[in-house]
Amino acid sequence: MRILVVEDEPDLLRSLAQALREESYAVDTAADGDEGLHKAESWEYDAIVLDVMLPKLDGWQLLARLRKTKKTPVLMLTARDRTMDRVRGLDTGADDYVVKPFDLDELLARLRALIRRSAGQTCNTLDIGDVSIDTAARLVTRAGAVVELTAREYGLVAFLALHRGEVVTRTALYEHLFDEDDSSLSNLLDVHVSNIRKKLGHEFIITRRGHGYSIET
Ligand code: CA
Repeated sequence: MRILVVEDEPDLLRSLAQALREESYAVDTAADGDEGLHKAESWEYDAIVLDVMLPKLDGWQLLARLRKTKKTPVLMLTARDRTMDRVRGLDTGADDYVVKPFDLDELLARLRALIRRSAGQTCNTLDIGDVSIDTAARLVTRAGAVVELTAREYGLVAFLALHRGEVVTRTALYEHLFDEDDSSLSNLLDVHVSNIRKKLGHEFIITRRGHGYSIET
């Protein structure tokens, strides 16, 4: 899952990006509204964390312009006690908001829920055969036993599971699993898939030759 964080306070931007990476997200950052809009329009993010008060283009303007072309889920960071901001945010097409200073765990939970809802999922836990994926705990079990996955492997499993039943192209996987600073070789994806199959069963991820990969329901 790939997230864009648009925030002009450097310390907050850095700590948010780091916290999200620790949760296995690929993270891109933008420090002003122009850069944020450009990136938001250029890539298929799974969600955008968008500060309201931004230089160049504020969060509202960015959101209004983005909504002309994209439905990317947006979580707004609004100022404390600005009820008008929240109402305006939801009216403009924001999907959710947290009030600054926010609790990190709450922001992460809201982000997970946003991504889940946008993929049409209602539950934190995804069951696929004997494999169970708890997206809140980032815990994967097979036949009741915990399976250790690397952050990349988990990201790949979680993305395919969220879109289970669909064929996900390699291009889409690269776009959703790697951030703008990654310069991974294309065969790396095959290595991750191979390692996941060793852990979760060969049939867990199906190769659609010429198209991509899928996890069946
Ligand atoms: Ca700001």
